[in-house]
Amino acid sequence: MESKILKSLPVLFFLYHTTTATSASPHWDYDDPTPWWAIEDTTQPAPRSYPYAECGVGQHQSPVDLAAVQLTSKPLNQLAALYGADTATFFNSGHAVQVNTSIGYSGGLKVGEETIPLIQFHFHEPSEHVINGDHFPAELHFVHINEDGRIAVLAVAIELGEEHPAFQTVLDNMPTQGGESNADTGIQIDPAVFLPQQQSHNNLEYFTLAGSLTTPPCSEGVQWYLLADPITISEAQLEQFKSFYTNNARPAQDVNGRAILSNK
Ligand SMILES: [Zn+2]
Repeated sequence: MESKILKSLPVLFFLYHTTTATSASPHWDYDDPTPWWAIEDTTQPAPRSYPYAECGVGQHQSPVDLAAVQLTSKPLNQLAALYGADTATFFNSGHAVQVNTSIGYSGGLKVGEETIPLIQFHFHEPSEHVINGDHFPAELHFVHINEDGRIAVLAVAIELGEEHPAFQTVLDNMPTQGGESNADTGIQIDPAVFLPQQQSHNNLEYFTLAGSLTTPPCSEGVQWYLLADPITISEAQLEQFKSFYTNNARPAQDVNGRAILSNK
């Protein structure tokens, strides 16, 4: 059973995380060799002077190498991506290309009986989750946050292939400056167009594990749902994407005995 699931992993995929540091949080990036946990906020007394400590001391950090995680196949909650068209805000977060949903947007991720609102989705290049150290060209993270603050991220691997029309819309309307947003286009996007078309969106095939945000403050308690099929963008789109951010992917973190469950 395990070898069968492992074989399906390359076609599969993965997920993760959210974002936005507040303006009061200290700067971080993907290039500085200083580990995120060691970044100090000198305006704060201890222990708040290390706001990203969880990036270092956390035991359930994301992303991970899927080949390093024990896989178990079992009946799980039905997972449904109940999205719908929305007036998109194109947001360059300073770390990623992101689309924010509008206030009052009713779309969300239904896990069993609970629906968790979709707040934003964003892209990493290359993928954050890896398989035996191998990256996909990119990875999409749908970020859902409940009223009580719990986070669920739905991750979709991105491979090279057919051009993705909606991804082109995202690229063409994205501000070039970090921290800027473009809310004035009136363009409608249905996030569901970024889901694998070969899957039933009301009953997704997925892998799930406990993890964290993949950016500071690396908060844990994030439930990850990784879809078993990728979507595609074209090579030209990947190149345009890289003109915004490249290598905005956190390395794989220690698994620390976590299991990954599959409903396949
Ligand atoms: Zn992410």
